[in-house]
Amino acid sequence: MLREDRCIGCGVCSKACPHGAIIVRENQVRILEFHPELCRDCGFECNASCPTGAIEEKPSSRVLKFEYAICAMCGQRLPLTREEAEHLAQVLMKSGGRPEFAYLCDECKIKLQSRASKAYYGYMV
Ligand code: SF4
Ligand code: SF4
Repeated sequence: MLREDRCIGCGVCSKACPHGAIIVRENQVRILEFHPELCRDCGFECNASCPTGAIEEKPSSRVLKFEYAICAMCGQRLPLTREEAEHLAQVLMKSGGRPEFAYLCDECKIKLQSRASKAYYGYMV
């Protein structure tokens, strides 16, 4: 069974499945195809790998589409779906990290860190 409301479109289950029963297509949106007819009940690698508990035993037949998140500073497309970015922000918040980093591309993260370092060292001298 697939709990669509929990799926964030990360595609981790697709990498975990040894039988190609979950396919990810990257295009203008990310598409997840779940093919239970290809499932071999391998021991539920997909269940164990899913970060949100969206799959219970055998996945249901579904095609889900996810919009990509965009960088909050420069606007370029991130390699994450919007739902993944939200999930990552929550994980960072709970672990004492910086949730805003979930919505930034790598270049903008570096710029932000560099600005923070300059401000800090400027204060020290
Ligand atoms: S239980 Fe089925 S869909 Fe899940 S990883 Fe195994 S073969 Fe793939
Ligand atoms: S691992 Fe879970 S959350 Fe990620 S795409 Fe698969 S079902 Fe969705």
